[in-house]
Amino acid sequence: MTNYFRSNVEAMASYVPGEQPPRGTQVIKLNSNENPYPPSPAALAALQNIDGEWLRRYPEPFGGEFRQAASQVLGVPSDWIIVGNGSDEVLSMVIRACAEPGHKVVYPMPTYVLYRTLTEMQAADILEIAYKKDNVLPLAELIAANGAVTFIASPNSPSGHVVPSDDLRKLASELSGVLVIDEAYVDFAEESALDLVQEYENVILIRTLSKGYSLAGLRLGFGVANPKLLDGLFKVKDSYNIDAIACAVATAAITDQAYKNACVAKVKASRTQLTSDLKELGFRVGNSHGNFLLTQPPERNAEYLYQKLKEQKILIRYFKQPGLEDKLRITVGTDEQNQILVRALSDLLGMRN
Ligand code: PMP
Repeated sequence: MTNYFRSNVEAMASYVPGEQPPRGTQVIKLNSNENPYPPSPAALAALQNIDGEWLRRYPEPFGGEFRQAASQVLGVPSDWIIVGNGSDEVLSMVIRACAEPGHKVVYPMPTYVLYRTLTEMQAADILEIAYKKDNVLPLAELIAANGAVTFIASPNSPSGHVVPSDDLRKLASELSGVLVIDEAYVDFAEESALDLVQEYENVILIRTLSKGYSLAGLRLGFGVANPKLLDGLFKVKDSYNIDAIACAVATAAITDQAYKNACVAKVKASRTQLTSDLKELGFRVGNSHGNFLLTQPPERNAEYLYQKLKEQKILIRYFKQPGLEDKLRITVGTDEQNQILVRALSDLLGMRN
C-alpha cells in the first residue's frame, strides 16, 4: 500500500485508552478515573434548557460564558483562561504552538501517556527522565534538559503523588521553555500551583471537568496562563472547539462548587477506606492525591488479577509500561463498588494460595 503518512505518524503506536464498554453494559468501571457520582443537578438542568436555536448557530468561539464562570471560581481574569475539548485538547494546543521538530519535549516517567503521543505527532524530540525512588522529581535533570515544553502532572497519574511546590517553582524559574503543570486531578488534592501562573509567564496550568465534576463525556478542560502565553495557543486552536452544549453545561457545573466539593469529599473518604482494605489483603498502596490508587498486589500477579477481574466485569487498569509491570491502577468508585472489588480480589488471592 502507498504510504500516505508523515514518517513520524507512520512510526507511532496509537494511544490506547482503558476499555470503554458500550453504555448500558453492566460493569464496574474503575479503569479511567471517572467520578462515580452523577454531574451536578444544575449541569443537568442546563442541558434541559438547550433548544434547537443553540444548535442551529455556531457557538461562541472562545467559550466566553465558561471563562467568566471559571474566572470567578479561580480568582483570575477571564483572559487568563483558554477552553478546550477536554484538557487533552489544551495539551495538544501547547505542543502545536510551542514544539517543532528538533525541539525537546521533556517529562518525568512514568506519567500520562498522552504527552508522548502528542510529541510524536508533532515530530518533536522526546526526552523521558525517570522519577527517582519514592516519586522524587529528577529536578536537576529536568532543568538541564531545558525542553521547549516540560510536562509535569501533579497529582501525577498513575502514581497519585503531588510534586512539591518548591520543585515546581524552581522549574518555572529555571526553564526557558514552557512548563505545563497538569492538574487534571487537583480537585482530589490539597494544594494547587495556581499561584505560579501569576508569577511566571512560562507556566500553564491544565484543569478539567472530567474528574472532580463528573463530566468526562462532555469533553471540557481548560488552561490557565498569562495572556501572553495563551496568545500562541489561540492561534492554533480550532475555530469552534467548544460546542454550545458543553459550554452551557460546564458553566453550570463549575458554578456549583458546593456539589463538586461534596462529591470530592465522598471520593476522598472512599479512597482512605479502599487503601486500608487493599493493604489488609497484602497490597502495597501508594499515597494518592487523585481519585485512583496505584497498587502492587502481594504476589506480583498484576496481569492475572486484571484479567480475572475483567472476566467478572470489573475493569481496572493494567499498564505494560516499564516500571509499572507489577502494578494496577484502580479508580476509586462508590463504597459499594469498592467493596465488590475488594471481595473479588480477596477471593482471587485465596484461590491462588
Ligand atoms: N491529564 C491527565 C494526567 C489525565 O490523566 C487525563 C485523563 N486521562 C487528562 C489530562 C485528560 O483529561 P480530559 O481530556 O478528559 O480533560
